[in-house]
Amino acid sequence: MLDKREIKEIDDNARKIIRKFAPENPCGEGRITLLKRRYVMLSTDYFPFDLTKDLEEIFGVAGDTLLFKGGKSVGTDIYERYHDLAEKYNVDIRDLISAVGYYFGWGTGKVVERKDGVYKIHMYDSFEADSFIKRNGGAKKPVCHFLRGVLSGLVESIEKREYKSKETKCAAMGDEYCEFIFEPK
Ligand SMILES: [Zn+2]
Repeated sequence: MLDKREIKEIDDNARKIIRKFAPENPCGEGRITLLKRRYVMLSTDYFPFDLTKDLEEIFGVAGDTLLFKGGKSVGTDIYERYHDLAEKYNVDIRDLISAVGYYFGWGTGKVVERKDGVYKIHMYDSFEADSFIKRNGGAKKPVCHFLRGVLSGLVESIEKREYKSKETKCAAMGDEYCEFIFEPK
């Protein structure tokens, strides 16, 4: 087992090596903490393209549903986490979450229409679409299953009812932005 001094030596050495070819990480070194939570960085060169592809290969369309479900849990948690902050700073929860998505580099999203409980959300620069564009030159169908799940969890938490969702435009298909439609069930 490594003691604290040995772990520090390994960290110091890692920093020395990294400094040879990469600038200081603006999010901190070794352990990235933002807004009191730990994060890891993954390159869109392989995430989520490889995961999505493998899930689809093994489970078919059910693979997309798995990503969607994972995203939905995240969306529900994001709502729980940020709705007090939205009240505290007197910002609409939808705008606050859009700002959080931008801050963490997931994409720039906005509710462009909200009528009779139906939401239309546009997202620019989706990290999921970006991954497919880089690795696959794009896709023939929408690929942002995780983000659709996140948005779905958020919309359901805000509206306190169940929704069905679809992605009707996707940057991976060559569209300018991804478009998500949420309709009450
Ligand atoms: Zn998309």
